[in-house]
Amino acid sequence: MPRYAYANGRFRPHNQASVHIEDRGYQFADGVYEVVPVHKGQVVDEEPHLDRLARSLGELRIDMPMSRHALKLVSHELIRRNALTNGFIYMQVTRGVAPRDHKFPKAKPRPALTMTTRQLPAKSDAQVDSGFAVITAPDQRWKRCDIKSISLLPNILAKQQAAEAGCDEAWLIDADGNVTEGAATNAWIVTDDKKVITRQADASILPGITRLSLTQVMARAGYELEIRPFSQQEAMNATEAFLTSSTNFVMPVTRIDGQPVGNGHPGILTMQLRQTYIDEVVTGGRGAAPGDVYRSMAV
Ligand code: PLP
Repeated sequence: MPRYAYANGRFRPHNQASVHIEDRGYQFADGVYEVVPVHKGQVVDEEPHLDRLARSLGELRIDMPMSRHALKLVSHELIRRNALTNGFIYMQVTRGVAPRDHKFPKAKPRPALTMTTRQLPAKSDAQVDSGFAVITAPDQRWKRCDIKSISLLPNILAKQQAAEAGCDEAWLIDADGNVTEGAATNAWIVTDDKKVITRQADASILPGITRLSLTQVMARAGYELEIRPFSQQEAMNATEAFLTSSTNFVMPVTRIDGQPVGNGHPGILTMQLRQTYIDEVVTGGRGAAPGDVYRSMAV
């Protein structure tokens, strides 16, 4: 079955879709992206993902490439054409095409929208049961990590370092010795008195949509949540640890820098949260509502 991508206003066979050589995304990483999960052909948390896209674009003074309604139509059509069941939609918007010059082009180019999809197998029970092993690495990123920029070099280097250590993710450590987040995930720990801790959504992290929805699931179910930075040492001493992202949902972290977290197996609370998140948000459609991203940024 042919696979399609969306580029330059058209659906094209995936291997024929291309962008202009002077696209500012290609030359300057002058653009943003979204990864929107799809489960059984249904988009998960669509509204907050589109909210975050609009916010990222606004912070960089790039216009929305089309209306929110049109973005939904295009992404749903791509899901249909690619018969996507489980996986994600990748959306990228750049400032557009212009002769190379750092400052914004005088004649505002049309923002360039590209979209692809990727089929991903659901995580197996065995994968979840063994959990993820993470390394820690210095956070070398810029000071606006709240923008979902396509400029990802520090994230790529950290992820590669993790892969070379035989691990799944890198938790990034700031100058104060605190964990900011993972290279492509948000970081969480559980203390021995069963408090769940994750860092506040300020400019030091990406406000994850999974993070946001999980905090709402937790509030509804009455879990105790503490929003604050936690140190690398606290993470090493935690009873449980886990990470969240659109492609992993809630994933136990069972090793940090080669040391077992707790007893080295996924934590009970973590597994409860994973199941509740999947039941409520992934399959139940009770995720975050439009506007929640903005409210969460104020936390
Ligand atoms: N933090 C970073 C740096 C990320 O790149 C991502 C996802 O790509 C996340 C956190 C998790 O965000 P979300 O839950 O929206 O996928």
